[in-house]
Amino acid sequence: MFFHGTSRVNEKGHLEIGGVDTVELAEMYGTPLYIYDVALIRTRARAFKEAFHRHGVQAQVAYASKAFSSIAMVQLAAEEGLSLDVVSGGELYTALAAGFPPERIHFHGNNKSRDELAMALEHGIGCIVADNFYELELIEQLASGRAVPVLLRVTPGVEAHTHDYILTGQEDSKFGFDLNNGQADEAFRRVMASPSFQLLGVHCHIGSQIFETAGFVLAAQKVFTKMAEWNKAYGFIPSVINLGGGFGIRYTEEDDPIPVSAYVDCIVKEVKRQAETCQLPLPEIWIEPGRSLVGDAGTTIYTIGSRKDVPNVRTYIAVDGGMSDNIRPALYGAKYEAVLANRVLGERTETVSIAGKCCESGDMLIWDLALPEAKPGDYLAVFCTGAYGYSMANNYNRLPRPAVVFVENGDAQLVVKRETYEDLIQHDLPFKAKVRK
Ligand SMILES: *Cc1c(COP(=O)(O)O)cnc(C)c1O
Repeated sequence: MFFHGTSRVNEKGHLEIGGVDTVELAEMYGTPLYIYDVALIRTRARAFKEAFHRHGVQAQVAYASKAFSSIAMVQLAAEEGLSLDVVSGGELYTALAAGFPPERIHFHGNNKSRDELAMALEHGIGCIVADNFYELELIEQLASGRAVPVLLRVTPGVEAHTHDYILTGQEDSKFGFDLNNGQADEAFRRVMASPSFQLLGVHCHIGSQIFETAGFVLAAQKVFTKMAEWNKAYGFIPSVINLGGGFGIRYTEEDDPIPVSAYVDCIVKEVKRQAETCQLPLPEIWIEPGRSLVGDAGTTIYTIGSRKDVPNVRTYIAVDGGMSDNIRPALYGAKYEAVLANRVLGERTETVSIAGKCCESGDMLIWDLALPEAKPGDYLAVFCTGAYGYSMANNYNRLPRPAVVFVENGDAQLVVKRETYEDLIQHDLPFKAKVRK
């Protein structure tokens, strides 16, 4: 059985998470419903932190809040002693509204607006991960006497994805300063020459859903080579190296991720080795997991509705959500596992494909899933929807966005309310017929 964290089957044969029956949750809060296993989020957060702690190095584990940002989630991240990445004024606003300590917030993005940067500076956030020359210009204009703590985001020419990593001389990416063509050097000189910046170090993020450590090792090597050059030429001493996120998780049986501690062990070892080789003091090591903190802690419950049999081709089973609450299958062919939440142990007698209810042929959630014979009113639980599910949810076809519930130790708490039809039209204004003269 494909379970994560505290998921199990209870005596009624229902899927239980965090000691709470998911069928009861579906009945109480309606469907689609996102359920988060809080204990599992804590377990992941602690695994990252403890792995650094064992090595006795200074580190920050920053939750990449774009994976799932809400007031309660940010508060949970704060409670677990994580730092926080934000990539927009909206995510920053959420973090501040949640009471997250500003000095532990890092601001990312390839096109931060003047207003967003002003907001970040006004609240004294921990650092801005500077991405491009225009941004440096804006920060200088807004700094007004402050030395703004920044990391320079570089593209090291290492691209990692799942089991492959590719070395590219010059990375074709919209993010960051190229490490290989002089851009990063120019940015470095610009920042060092200006009193408006306090350069903490260098940041890079090499990809997502990565199952190997080799890409992180290579990225660390490339970043250190550059930092050593800057040290020789200008006496620069980096206090931070940030190697981004992208740690892979298990969406289906086919995925075989390594433990969180294995990534950390490997990163710490390489950073120590590089610091020694380059004769630099050991910098603080920062990482930015998103998916690996919340991905497998999230489960979506749907109600099953219509069925369409295409003889000799396939059977479509439709649910009451789809690309509006999980766009990843339609966007990039993401794969998921699912069970019937109300009959988890039922014999899987047929193979069906799970369709969403949106008006797009591409709105499919799962192809070829073995299930017990599903009837209207059954509940489908799709696992591992905790990252980039709710955060990418949308109102296509004017579907209200679902509610989010946190479960832990037998307690459930609503942390995001389901949208109502009124919410859907709250910003609409009536059409005013032209007044005839
Ligand atoms: C998206 C992103 C992350 C988090 O990636 P995951 O794959 O969710 O771990 C971290 N850092 C940066 C800069 C990102 O863009």
